[in-house]
Amino acid sequence: MLWSSWHNHTGDGPRFSYCADLTPEAYRRALRNGPWTAFAITDHAFALALPDEEPWPFQWYFTPERLWQHSEFRDHKTEQYLERLAKICDGKRIFGGMEVEVAYDGSLSMACQLWPYLDVVVGGIHFLPGERDTWPEAHVHQLQMLLQHPIDILAHPFRELAHAGPVPGEIVDETLHLLRDNDVAVEINARVAYPGDADLLARAVRLGVRVAFGLDAHQAHELESAAYFEQVLADSGVDPNNLRLFYPMRKSAKARALPR
Ligand SMILES: [Zn+2]
Ligand SMILES: [Zn+2]
Repeated sequence: MLWSSWHNHTGDGPRFSYCADLTPEAYRRALRNGPWTAFAITDHAFALALPDEEPWPFQWYFTPERLWQHSEFRDHKTEQYLERLAKICDGKRIFGGMEVEVAYDGSLSMACQLWPYLDVVVGGIHFLPGERDTWPEAHVHQLQMLLQHPIDILAHPFRELAHAGPVPGEIVDETLHLLRDNDVAVEINARVAYPGDADLLARAVRLGVRVAFGLDAHQAHELESAAYFEQVLADSGVDPNNLRLFYPMRKSAKARALPR
């Protein structure tokens, strides 16, 4: 089976993801040699806003205005990012995107003018506030805020919540219902294996939720195989013909007031 990975990072040049060291050429090579049909480049929105030394998102989750303080830096790096996407994306095998998150007040880490330039926007929950026993509610709250924005895919849905222990089935289903109601795909993320991924995939298919596979690639070795996806699919017992796979189709911004 051939695969697409809709969530991937680069780290060369101006460093659109500080945590990655992949180049666009590495993705082109993987398309030639690996089991891949398409990649989306989804670098971190916050890296367009904050210089390298600023940690994320813990430092700005409660002070999101910091994302808008380095305006010259932000404008210049955003221009560089759009130029890069225009150069490397063909809309067939390489798509342009971004990985975003929301702060405590629901404000997005990405400038809203960028939506029309992006084929794939993955939204991630990278931080849950409060004590761990309140994280299930915090997860749902953060997801609801994220879904106020027209994201395409919920990245690594339970990466944060799973730090508080196994994710209850009802939270998994509540998450999937919210995604389905907002026409957002759920991601099976290969970078940090989530022990519930096979169950998540089976539930997603049962509920008719669109599925997006994402390597969340940061280093070259992660492009070598789709073994994690193959394993999750086999363990889930899902017939591949029943998968509703994500494919990029840019949504228009939601016609309602956004929280910022
Ligand atoms: Zn992420
Ligand atoms: Zn990522």
